[in-house]
Amino acid sequence: MIKTVDHAGAEGLVHIENLVKRYGSFVALDHLNLDVKEGEIFGLLGPNGSGKTTAINCMLALLKYDKGMIRIFGQEMAPDNYLVKKDMGIVLQNVAVFDELTVYENIDYFCGLYVKNKIRRKEMVDEAIRFVGLEEHRKMRPRKLSGGLLRRLNIACGIAHRPKLIFMDEPTVAVDPQSRNRILEGIMELNRQGSTIIYTSHYMEEVEQICTRIAIMDHGRCIASGTKEQLTGMIKTGEKITIEGVALDEELLQKIRGLPHVFQADYKNGILRLQCTEAKHNLVRVLHCLEEQEIHFGRVFSEQPTLNDVFLHITGTQLRD
Ligand code: ADP
Ligand code: MG
Repeated sequence: MIKTVDHAGAEGLVHIENLVKRYGSFVALDHLNLDVKEGEIFGLLGPNGSGKTTAINCMLALLKYDKGMIRIFGQEMAPDNYLVKKDMGIVLQNVAVFDELTVYENIDYFCGLYVKNKIRRKEMVDEAIRFVGLEEHRKMRPRKLSGGLLRRLNIACGIAHRPKLIFMDEPTVAVDPQSRNRILEGIMELNRQGSTIIYTSHYMEEVEQICTRIAIMDHGRCIASGTKEQLTGMIKTGEKITIEGVALDEELLQKIRGLPHVFQADYKNGILRLQCTEAKHNLVRVLHCLEEQEIHFGRVFSEQPTLNDVFLHITGTQLRD
């Protein structure tokens, strides 16, 4: 058990202050600040190249950084700080397993770095295999596994020793939907069992689905952080409404533009698109307006703001192409 210094509770399990990392003259992390609290599934969300892996690798002391400070469990992280490392689980973006070992042997190897007792270790390895659903593949070698199963093995190797703090760098990239769901559910289960998780992804939906708090990264900086609700609450756009197959004249369009909370209304090819400032209750008003004039309409969509909208608002570009 790690003894944490007194202020660690207040500052969180992971504390990063003004972290700067350069590759040559290129600035990959530009004064990054983060604080991850115990019990969170903390999401680092950002487009490819925004510095997520660099940040993770600095936290793990796999990379040297140029400036700033990283404390984990209240201690300065260093490559040989095994006391800290034993309570950490690492699932790297690039799968790192041994080709000449079976699924079981791989997990046993990584678990064995931290757990010396063989009986206890066997229990943990079996549990990890069950956890990622590789029971039928325990004797297989990694190269025989599909991409999704290989990712699951990568995860099992990182979590078998039941770490308190788990780092996962894009664990769902290029996996089939079944493995992806299994992985996401597994992360939430690990969290329920008491692990704090730091999770990176460029998939907005995943981060929205599982993360309790999110830092949005762009060009090596944290541009916003908070819960999903806090982040979407920062921007003007609330509900987005689309009404298809509707015929409007200029007068009615002006009336809709004048409804409360509507700040943008585009009408083209029989499709009306509205952006409203509030997240709820706009649709009723708009439909009422159409009904009054006995205007027919086709399909109707109401969308809540997403983290992509937040990213777009702050950076002017889409999170994804
Ligand atoms: P992400 O994980 O968010 O996709 P990375 O941390 O991998 O981003 O990369 C951040 C930026 O740093 C990218 O522009 C990438 O090209 C650059 N980078 C990453 N690793 C190296 C390296 N070893 N040498 C030079 N540039 C690098
Ligand atoms: Mg990465």
